[in-house]
Amino acid sequence: MTTTPLEILLVEDDAAYAALVTQLLERLGAARVTHRSRLRDGLAAIDARRFDVLLLDLSLPDGWGLDLLAAVRERAPDLPVVVLTGRDDDELAISAVQRGAQDYLLKSQVDSGSALLPRALRYAIERHRFLAEQKELEQRLRAAQAATEEQVRQRTAELTNKVMALEQRERWMRRLNEMSEWLQSCQTFEEAFRVIARSAELMFAAGGDESPEGAAYRAETGLLAMARGDDSTLEVVAAWGAAPPALVFAADQCWACRRGRLHRSGEMGGLTCAHKAPGTTHSLCVPLLGPGGTMGVLHLATASPAMNESSLARNLAPMAAALAVQAALALSNLQLRGKLERQALRDPLTGLYNRRYMEESLERELRRAQRTGRGAGLLMLDIDYFKNFNDRHGHGAGDALLQAIGRFLEHHTRGADLACRYGGEEFLVLLPDTDAETLRQRAEEIRAGVERIRIEHDGIALEGVSLSVGVAAFPGAGGTAAQLLRVADQALYAAKAAGRNQVKFALSAA
Ligand code: GH3
Ligand code: MG
Ligand code: MG
Repeated sequence: MTTTPLEILLVEDDAAYAALVTQLLERLGAARVTHRSRLRDGLAAIDARRFDVLLLDLSLPDGWGLDLLAAVRERAPDLPVVVLTGRDDDELAISAVQRGAQDYLLKSQVDSGSALLPRALRYAIERHRFLAEQKELEQRLRAAQAATEEQVRQRTAELTNKVMALEQRERWMRRLNEMSEWLQSCQTFEEAFRVIARSAELMFAAGGDESPEGAAYRAETGLLAMARGDDSTLEVVAAWGAAPPALVFAADQCWACRRGRLHRSGEMGGLTCAHKAPGTTHSLCVPLLGPGGTMGVLHLATASPAMNESSLARNLAPMAAALAVQAALALSNLQLRGKLERQALRDPLTGLYNRRYMEESLERELRRAQRTGRGAGLLMLDIDYFKNFNDRHGHGAGDALLQAIGRFLEHHTRGADLACRYGGEEFLVLLPDTDAETLRQRAEEIRAGVERIRIEHDGIALEGVSLSVGVAAFPGAGGTAAQLLRVADQALYAAKAAGRNQVKFALSAA
């Protein structure tokens, strides 16, 4: 409790009674009393300065009863009020307390001159302060509660979003693994394109769930475009959602291809690609990068108003990039496998099949000829005096001539025939389903054709060469691959011995 004197405003029209109260309070030294006789003056005093408590008579010349209390409360809501009442106003005083007055005192009690009055006033002030503090505490508590609820709400929303992002990521990863597994079984580029495009469609066109937030993981439109042979144009090999404006487009119309990195439509103030489907708003392109450069591009787009640049960058871009890496890896592997297979089968100088492949095929073709009962034939060709040609014009010219003969054989054999480079300047041609007479004609055509070949090397036109040819027919000249090869070689030797530039036929097994 404070020891400074209380500042008391006494509003009382009975001058004698007011003097009595003032005297009583000031004599005790615990209070300073300001006295006003009318409500109007009392309110003016309240406006002018601060009081600790108001001692208010409920019957005044310019107002009466609860109206008085209301007028004071409106003017000074924080000022504790103690109502003074004569016996007649008892009921009124009680209802005044019920409406916010701190206490009421009977005038008769104050008359007695006891310490009741100052004590009642102090209690009134303390009670008022206590109530005010309690009110403030309650307000602070409510504010803290509201803040906590808001925090909980925000945190719950954040967690829900995080859970959704994690679940979506997990679904995407499962699809990505599934795609990798399928790609490992693909044998052709067409198969691989289908697997990549379908996986991308499943991942992104069906991404997210049905909630409004789910749309931030979805791009309903997309395409997969692959580089054509010359790399400067891209061909759409699969598309879903809104149709692309063209099925072939120049690589430099796509920002991702041009820059060799992921591109979002909102970058650099909205540089969009020409291949973006009309009507779509946000889009991204991710290049499929192989060891030799850009192999293709995966493009995703959406017209959904729920998509924005940040969702595109945060949700879709990393997953699309992961898919592109996997896809590019699989396509590079296919490319490499094809190259290795070609290398294993083909002679690098002429592009004809190599000896190993021919020997394998020969066995197979002879078994087939045996089954069908139709004949087959083998031509063994050797360039005449090729060493001299090399000596005169150089090894480079010799190589060019070998290549020209390779091209000739490629073009002058049927689809079922097999032409191979058997050794240095020796070639073998296998002709399935061919009778002896046709064999002789074909051998002669090839010999005559090669004789007419002319090449230019380093700007100089060179003379042609001739061929010696040994022919072995199956099954007449031999029943096995080894026999047939030996007999053809003997026939070739015979052609050489007889003066070269001619065909010799081996008719029976040696
Ligand atoms: P013949 O009429 O008896 O067959 O005589 P030839 O000179 O053709 O035969 P020979 O076996 O004596 O020589 C073959 C030559 O073929 C020797 C070699 O330098 C050449 N030759 C083998 N492979 C290649 C090649 O890949 N490139 C070039 N330029 N020459 C090759
Ligand atoms: Mg030779
Ligand atoms: Mg030779």
